[in-house]
This record gives sequence, structure tokens and C-alpha cells, in this order.
Amino acid sequence: MKVLVINCGSSSLKYQLIDSETEKALAVGLCERIGIDGRLNHTPAGGEKIVIEKAMPDHQVAVSMVLDALVHDTYGVIGDLKEIDAVGHRLVHGGEKFSSSVIIDKEVIAAVEECNPLAPLHNPANLIGVRACQAIMKGVPNIGVFDTAFHQTMEPVAYMYGLPYEYYEKYKVRRYGFHGTSHSFVSKRALEMLSLDPSNSKLIVCHLGNGSSISAIKNGKVMDTSMGMTPLEGLVMGTRCGDMDPTIVEYLVHTLDKSVEEVLEILNKESGVYGLSGGVSSDFRDLDAASNEGNEKAKLAVEVFSYRTAKYIGAYIAAMDGVDAIVFTAGLGENNSVVRGQILEHFGYMGITIDKEANMVRGEEKVISTLDSKVTVVVIPTNEELAIAHETVALLK
Ligand code: ADP
Repeated sequence: MKVLVINCGSSSLKYQLIDSETEKALAVGLCERIGIDGRLNHTPAGGEKIVIEKAMPDHQVAVSMVLDALVHDTYGVIGDLKEIDAVGHRLVHGGEKFSSSVIIDKEVIAAVEECNPLAPLHNPANLIGVRACQAIMKGVPNIGVFDTAFHQTMEPVAYMYGLPYEYYEKYKVRRYGFHGTSHSFVSKRALEMLSLDPSNSKLIVCHLGNGSSISAIKNGKVMDTSMGMTPLEGLVMGTRCGDMDPTIVEYLVHTLDKSVEEVLEILNKESGVYGLSGGVSSDFRDLDAASNEGNEKAKLAVEVFSYRTAKYIGAYIAAMDGVDAIVFTAGLGENNSVVRGQILEHFGYMGITIDKEANMVRGEEKVISTLDSKVTVVVIPTNEELAIAHETVALLK
């Protein structure tokens, strides 16, 4: 089957056309500046990237341009749009309503809309992408794959906040978790690669990218994860603050004379390693370079990131009463040996030992612990688009 995977934001739309038999992307691309002016970046597999600047007043026009690119005489990758069997959409927040992927119909759209208050920036944008595909690709099934779904196996003990119970009952205030598609894909691959028994396994998956989250997966099911009601909770991230004393919000509102919304914008977009480094960068490649040149704030930012991640790993080992394997994935987890090394040096007492040479790996599957390490540590590249294509095919079969 050929599956068009779409990740739609408020002014952007990322896509991949995936052949589920070969598991390869036939084309990847990105529509940018939708509603502003409009730019399509399209790369056919094995070919040159082409950039088309053309007005994209709305997402429907963007989807049309993507489809035109896919069948184009020179840079297209299919002969006819009829070859696209289904569209798989990344949907951010499924609340408690969705614990697995779904075929999107009117009822599903209404249920996703009910979750909009939990993800006011993302869910409405995701649905715009769904509607645009429904309007243009008549008769082609649309499948929704939720960021939150894989984490729905968490028990109340892990997902409840220490708040009045009625806030959960009335307003759905609880921890949901995100990056579920990646945690699911990578944990399944780890079980397979390490020949672990899924029904008797304890994994910790560290999805470390610009947004970062970590999960404890016991017997194939999420027991806990670091992101909460929104993606702001948990690890220190590229620009997000992660866990902090909530009173700081009130303190900054008064001290900086800003609104709550403005302070939350700072906590989401100007904090994390970017803020800690004094604005050097949210990208760890820049932070590593600045640290090497003696920038103390950049060095501290990376250390704070690693320390917080190590604390979560420690907590999850306690939560699961042990761990068989620790998995690193996403941009940083797959490529940054400095961060992996800093995190893992906290676990010498547990008998985790790292093969320094193996830890130099970038972007490929590899065991990075030594043969005599008490816990296996492995790098596994994530592929959220392929995971969405797998889910789409599985639902339609
Ligand atoms: P996002 O959450 O936006 O998908 P990524 O998973 O791409 O982010 O992670 C971004 C981080 O990963 C950056 O800090 C960057 O330093 C790091 N990273 C991504 N790719 C590479 C690479 N090829 N080599 C080194 N670091 C990388």
C-alpha cells in the first residue's frame, strides 16, 4: 500500500509518501508559510530537493500542491493519485477518548474537537489537514494516529496530579504524555532486536530531540512518561523548561509585569537549554561547540539536561522495580554521544557500563553497553512517519 503521512501544523504541513511494502519513503516534503505566502519543499527519493514558491492561502491549496508534486512529470513519484491508498494523520491530543489509532469519520472528528481545549494550538491545526484531505481526495480513507494514545495504559497512580480530584473529573486535568508514536515504535523494535519477552520486559525509552520525553514501558505497556497534560512537563528541552515549581509563573507575572500567557510563551519557547545557555542555541550541536570554546553557560545547559534525564531514568527504574534495557532515540538520543555519556555515568552503581567506541554511533541501531553490563543500552532510530504508515495499514487490513 502507498500511504500519504501528514503532520499538519497551523502554518505548515509535513508529508511523506510511504510504500508500506518496502517501508521506504517515495517522497518527503514540507509546505511552509501557509496563509502567509507559501513555499513547498519536495524531495523525491534519490532526487534533488525542489522548492516551489506559490501562494498557499489555506491548507486545501497546500494539499493540492503536494498532490500535484507527487504526480509531476519530472519530480513526481507516482503516475496517478489513485495509487495513494490511504492518508495517515498525526493527531496530537486524543485525551482519554483514544487509546489507539482510528479511521476518521464525523464522530471521530467531533471527539477530537472535544479534546481541542487540551491542545488548542495543535488539534485544530491537525483537523484542518484532515478536512483538506477529505475535500480533495474523495473516497480515500483518513486514519488518525494520536501522540497520546500509547500512553493511555498508565494507571491513575502515574497520571494523577496532586490536585483536587474534581479537577480531573470535571476538567480532565491529568497527565497524558506525548511522542507516543515514537515510544511505541522504538520500544517494539527494542523488544525484537534484543529478543526480550514482551510480556516480561522492562524498558526505558529516552526520546531526546528538540522536544524530549522519557517513558517506562513494562511488559509492552507504558507505566509512566515524563510529559504531562501538555508537552511542557518533564525533561529540560530545547526551549521548554520541563518540571519546575508552578509558583514561578505567578512570580514572573508580577516581576516582569507580563500576562500568564506571555510567561507561558517564555516557558515554552525561550527556556530549556536555549534559555539556560543565555540564548546560545536550542540545538545541541551549537551548545557542544560553544562548550568546547569555553562557554560556561552552554556547558551548564547540557549538564542540566543530562542530569534531569538521569534523574528520570532513576525514578523509572524504581517505578518498574528494575530495567532490562535503556533505549536512546530521536535527534539527540541517536546522534549525541556526549549527552548519552553524561546521562549514563550516573548508573555505574547499577553495573551499567558503556563501550566508549560503540557510544560514538550516530543515527543507526547499535548496542552501546559492554557485554558484561547489567543493563543493555541501545540506540534505535525512531521513524514516526513509518510508524503512522504501519498503523494506517494495520487498521485498513
Ligand atoms: P524535533 O523534536 O524537532 O524532531 P530532533 O529529534 O531533530 O528534534 O532533535 C533535535 C536535536 O537533535 C538538536 O539538538 C540536534 O543537535 C540533534 N541532532 C539532530 N540531528 C543530528 C545529527 N545528525 N547530528 C548531531 N546532532 C543531531
